Amino acid sequence: MSEERIAGRLSTEIPSFRCACGELLDAATSAPNVGTSRDARPDPGDLTVCFGCGRAYQFDAELRHVPLDVDALPEEDRANVRKIQASVVRFRGRRS
Ligand SMILES: [Zn+2]
Repeated sequence: MSEERIAGRLSTEIPSFRCACGELLDAATSAPNVGTSRDARPDPGDLTVCFGCGRAYQFDAELRHVPLDVDALPEEDRANVRKIQASVVRFRGRRS
């Protein structure tokens, strides 16, 4: 895996995955670390959100995407995922 800066953000290649929305997910960045030089490499068990549609996933041991039931998450994680999903919807609304 390699890290590279994309539009000033540190991003990490991950095993590629095609989301149900059609978006190819093959890189990840860490939402809390966006715009910083801190490590953007995901760890197994980390949560992730498709930037195409907002679907939530969790990385397995090989950093593959496993569909995630957001309603089953602890309250703080659920709130954070919902916030990111809302941002994706707003961003996608502006682009179309
Ligand atoms: Zn998607």
